[in-house]
Amino acid sequence: MARRTKIIATIGPASDNEETLRDLIRAGMDVARLGLAHNTIDEAAERMARIRRIAALEGRYVGILVDLPGPKVRAASFGEEAVTIIEDSQVSLRAGDRASTASDIEVDYEGLLTDVEIGDRLSMGDGRVILEVQAVDGDRVSARVAHGGVLTGSPGLHIPSDRLSMRAPTDEDLVAVEHFVQLGADMIAVSFVRSAEDMARVPVEPHPAGPIVVAKIETRAAIQDLPAIIEASGAVMVARGDLGSECSIEELPILQKEIIRQCIALGRPAITATQMLETMVANPEPTRAEASDVANAVWDGSSAVMLSGETAIGVDPVNVVATMSRIAERADEAFDHRGWTSELSDLRMTDTEDPDSSITDAMTQATARAVDELGIGTILCVSGSGFTVRSMARFRPAAHIVGLSADERTVRQLTLSWGTEPIHLPEQGHLDDRVSAALEVARNRGAVQAGELVGVLAGTDAKSRSTNALRIERVPEA
Ligand code: PEP
Repeated sequence: MARRTKIIATIGPASDNEETLRDLIRAGMDVARLGLAHNTIDEAAERMARIRRIAALEGRYVGILVDLPGPKVRAASFGEEAVTIIEDSQVSLRAGDRASTASDIEVDYEGLLTDVEIGDRLSMGDGRVILEVQAVDGDRVSARVAHGGVLTGSPGLHIPSDRLSMRAPTDEDLVAVEHFVQLGADMIAVSFVRSAEDMARVPVEPHPAGPIVVAKIETRAAIQDLPAIIEASGAVMVARGDLGSECSIEELPILQKEIIRQCIALGRPAITATQMLETMVANPEPTRAEASDVANAVWDGSSAVMLSGETAIGVDPVNVVATMSRIAERADEAFDHRGWTSELSDLRMTDTEDPDSSITDAMTQATARAVDELGIGTILCVSGSGFTVRSMARFRPAAHIVGLSADERTVRQLTLSWGTEPIHLPEQGHLDDRVSAALEVARNRGAVQAGELVGVLAGTDAKSRSTNALRIERVPEA
């Protein structure tokens, strides 16, 4: 695998048939995102089963990320045809679910009338249309169109999060969590998180017993509580669509870099999301600016880059994934691995209260250094929960990382880890057995070659929580 940065593709009507899913996997989709904002739990569960089946047929691990809608307000449908909202015209908004037109917009939120105030700016469709509230009378809100644009389907209506009285996760989110935990989803994303307490209200067991819980950073309040939210989560998404409505647009690139930097310090995978190849919803090629955006997200330290509408409703989802894969792979090739590793040595933060995580932290740093000095091309990380693999990936080594675990869900969760090839390793007893089995399984999968010198990181017995052994081994002949 030459590409190191992972690709998340959102599955929607343009991509949920068996053939397209198969081609998305072949083109490089590592994780499939199922958004619950546009689908019922049953529809998403059916898609999840289909993806699992096709991934198994392809002999590939594909992670499933279920994205909870949270307190997201949506407009009733404008229909399939694009509707132009004219700049400086007047629109009225009210609670309802029948249909929206260019002048009358219905939204799925009763609290609209009590939450918004005169002067508030409401963004629709990730900033395509901006409304300015002028009056709140009776059962409707009147607004002037500050920026006109084109809308289709049921776009989101962004109400400033400090006005919104709904909390994340919502009661509907909690019902969905219960459902998808039972179905064995690998990752669950929580929308509109405002504090670490919001994350604590998601009722899941810590992974690998439960899914990785991803905090979507898309509110101003989340930026204020960022270190605590990152610590309370298994991974983080820079949800630039709503975040870009909450902050000024010139702040967004700075926030993106800062969120990713803090994720790296704490060893959490960071996902950069939204409008990465937006023009490919309708076009066969991205803009030059979009290509640079993907490459810069890689160099910022994103573990994964995400596609939304491009693969959910776009004209050619497979072409989008293939294009993103080429751009990310080229950016990965140009990555300054040595510079990054030495910078990380100062940046990284470890939980000094927890000796196991401190040991893993020190061992992964020693491994990054050893493989670089010895010119070793592959590191095999044997891990129970995936923690060692994520810890290793933080250093962005030039060496290929193979993540091996006896836990199938951990293996699927490793699809999100930068630079990692996930492989299942049957349970083994002692260190010697685990190292031999890891070498053999990785060789049989073609991840390493007989005779190659590799680094193997593991715990000395199946019970040790920390990774406390590094072995430099030659891959045996078959
Ligand atoms: C975003 O706002 O950037 C995002 C990823 O969330 P959603 O697509 O659910 O609006």
